[in-house]
Amino acid sequence: MHIVCLIKYTLHIFQLDNHDTTKSFGVVCEKYGLDTATIVRTTAARWRKTMSELRKDPIINRWVIIADERMKRPHDFTAIEESASKDGCPFCPGAEEKTPPEIWAVRKKDTEPNGPGWTVRVVPNKFPALRIEGELDRLGVGMYDRMNGIGAHEVIIETTDHSKMLEDLTVDQILDVYKTYKQRLSDLKGDTRFRYILLFKNHGMLAGASLSHAHSQLIATPVTPKRIAEEMNGAQSYYRYKERCVYCDILREELAQKVRIIYENDSFISFCPFASRFPFEIWVVPKRHDPDFDSADDNELHAFSEAMKATLAKLAGALKKPHYNYVLHTGPARWKRYGYWQTLDLDYHWHVEIMPRLVNVAGFEWGTGFYINPTKPEDAAAFLQETSV
Ligand SMILES: [Zn+2]
Ligand SMILES: [Zn+2]
Ligand SMILES: [Zn+2]
Repeated sequence: MHIVCLIKYTLHIFQLDNHDTTKSFGVVCEKYGLDTATIVRTTAARWRKTMSELRKDPIINRWVIIADERMKRPHDFTAIEESASKDGCPFCPGAEEKTPPEIWAVRKKDTEPNGPGWTVRVVPNKFPALRIEGELDRLGVGMYDRMNGIGAHEVIIETTDHSKMLEDLTVDQILDVYKTYKQRLSDLKGDTRFRYILLFKNHGMLAGASLSHAHSQLIATPVTPKRIAEEMNGAQSYYRYKERCVYCDILREELAQKVRIIYENDSFISFCPFASRFPFEIWVVPKRHDPDFDSADDNELHAFSEAMKATLAKLAGALKKPHYNYVLHTGPARWKRYGYWQTLDLDYHWHVEIMPRLVNVAGFEWGTGFYINPTKPEDAAAFLQETSV
């Protein structure tokens, strides 16, 4: 009986705002014949169990996601070793019921969702860092700021072939993956709760991947991540001073110096950045100035697929398939707020950053934000450029 009452109470409490909650707390307890201390303990436990939350570091204004539900994630090395085999892989065709229901898919005509017939498939992450349901609910706790862990966390399964890496796919297959990125980005930009949508890829155990079947991920956050804000602010200051986009200037400089370029086609350049943080760090940048990835048309996405395939294949060939992360840095959702990223059309330029996991980030890096890179970007670029694919 008590359990039924608690469920009713919990449902009730989530429909009320804070003021009503306080006012009606005693009334509801009385109605369901419950002891208030039990309710507080139980609802607090339920809250902790089901919601991740965002907490803000009050010194450097960095938000952190506390996602204790992810503790359930199979994360030890044994599980990762096992997942390299096809058996039990939730991303292989025929195992669609092992993932939450699909959000989007590139499918053959006349095939049903959540069954075979797809070529690219998007599903919610089974162990999400942030959850799509609910309201934002910003809250001050003493001197601290917190927010419900609202967001989206999706997985983009890039191929039906368990053994293929992204760079092994054909350009047209990769194009379907990037068209899917564009679809998800445009769709989630319509949700007014989200400020930023990051698409990224963890490839290999050292890069944080727990399944070997090729996939990317997407996380939509209700705040602009600090690293993105720093980048956009830096680009804005540069523009304010020079009236030119810093990324367009970097492209002109790289094309003039020709010492860090790895690959180039009509629309994209990939190169090792001048101040690379890690050995073999690579940026892939469109030649056409645009702040938003989702503004790229099919031709541009095709050229992007060629550039990514060539770059990742060179990396795999030169360094014996290293584990890597890549991130897609694109403009944030622009909701009408005074002074909120109003100048991005002029001063921001979307791009991809690829970070092979060849060295560990150690004490000095953690303590200072400096990076010690043991490989000159010019040497890394020359090595990659010479690697034939
Ligand atoms: Zn698989
Ligand atoms: Zn630009
Ligand atoms: Zn960036």
